[in-house]
Amino acid sequence: MPLTPPATLSPSKVSSFTDCALAFRYSAIDHLPEPPSVAATKGTLVHLALEHLFEREPADRTIEAAQLDLARAITEIRVDPDFTGLDLQGEAEAAFFADAATLVEKYFGLEDPTTIRPIGLELRLEAKVGGLRLRGIIDRLELDENGGLVVTDYKSGRSPRESFQQSRLGGVTFYALLCEELFGVLPSRVQLLYLGDQTTITTEPTAQSTRGLRNKVGALWQAVELACEREDFRPRPGPLCNWCGFHAYCPAQGGDPSLVANVVADRAAAEAAAADLAAAGEPPLHP
Ligand code: SF4
Repeated sequence: MPLTPPATLSPSKVSSFTDCALAFRYSAIDHLPEPPSVAATKGTLVHLALEHLFEREPADRTIEAAQLDLARAITEIRVDPDFTGLDLQGEAEAAFFADAATLVEKYFGLEDPTTIRPIGLELRLEAKVGGLRLRGIIDRLELDENGGLVVTDYKSGRSPRESFQQSRLGGVTFYALLCEELFGVLPSRVQLLYLGDQTTITTEPTAQSTRGLRNKVGALWQAVELACEREDFRPRPGPLCNWCGFHAYCPAQGGDPSLVANVVADRAAAEAAAADLAAAGEPPLHP
């Protein structure tokens, strides 16, 4: 039976399909659970702290305030399954929070937050482009000195080598396309702030770059639909395997793809049971 393509495309789904079609399938179509990662959860924590910082009045966005905002973010993330799933104890937990504090401090070496004019934080955008639903979350949308839109994306890692920079900016052009669709205007600037090595990569999107992305996304969608029709998603082993959570199901890693059907069936049964309980007015078994 053909597989059902995902309802929406996000920048991470686009790059996931390009990097490894099988990992894309497991994540975006089969929705297999992925173990939380230290790097991604640390990134979430730092994003949260910076979001709180920009909720403050401009003059209050000091480095001391940012560490208070990090403390608030730590309280919030302590109940997040992605954090509790890491099961960090003692020194490992202390090192995790110390790293996050260093990243927040490093942010101040990249820009002066008192001069930023944000108009949206963690902005969830969705637009229909040529029959496709595109979706993305912009870390920070702000106005520049001329009233133009600026899209800012925080990265908690280090900046990529020059040869990989364009592919990283491809994801950000996705946000430029969403702005063009929803606000009728292209951002004047899109920037990636790499906190790890205090580097900013900036691009000025053009109608040509978003047109190119439209074409690319359209072609990629056709490839996804074809792969779904043929149930043909192949593994593409490479450096990203080191961060992939699907080794147990990946033939290229000695895993067993037939296990996927059981996981999907178990989840469907759990969802059906939860729906039955909800219809009967009963609370879910695992709230
Ligand atoms: S382990 Fe590597 S090849 Fe296998 S699904 Fe993950 S990224 Fe793809």
